[in-house]
Amino acid sequence: MLTNKMQNALNEQINKELWSSYLYLSMAAYFEDNNLPGFANWMRVQAQEEVSHGMKIFDYVNDRGGRVFLKPIAEVPTEWSDTRTVVEETLNHERVVTESIYDLVNLAVEEKDHATNQMLQWFIQEQVEEEASADDLLQRVEMTEGKGHALLMIDKELAGRQFVDETKE
Ligand code: MG
Repeated sequence: MLTNKMQNALNEQINKELWSSYLYLSMAAYFEDNNLPGFANWMRVQAQEEVSHGMKIFDYVNDRGGRVFLKPIAEVPTEWSDTRTVVEETLNHERVVTESIYDLVNLAVEEKDHATNQMLQWFIQEQVEEEASADDLLQRVEMTEGKGHALLMIDKELAGRQFVDETKE
């Protein structure tokens, strides 16, 4: 059984993952509007990943006999000043998500909830990858500073990113 406190915290995390998906979808819309279809694709895949993260916790709560309660998804930003700012916000957002996963692990330890702790270990590893891929993209975008054709080359490459549901592996 999940404690009430743990269940509430996991429900909040489901909301955060779905909000993240909404954020990345908004970034995809921004890139579509700015004629960077590869960056838009990268963000769309990112958005799909976030839904799969939310669903992993959704399934877990149900498996433990808990109850999922979906709350409204808060508004997301829609405009950014340039490509670099969007990617920088992606990295910063993933760092915030990492902190929120750590808070959940701390709570699981406090509650002596070993099963939840173990489920969350997957997310700890996932966040290492999320931060690394956002940081990698940011560094590459920074290298293009002012050179449009270099940005278009990255865009072309990002068009090839495909969604793989890693929660099922
Ligand atoms: Mg996530």
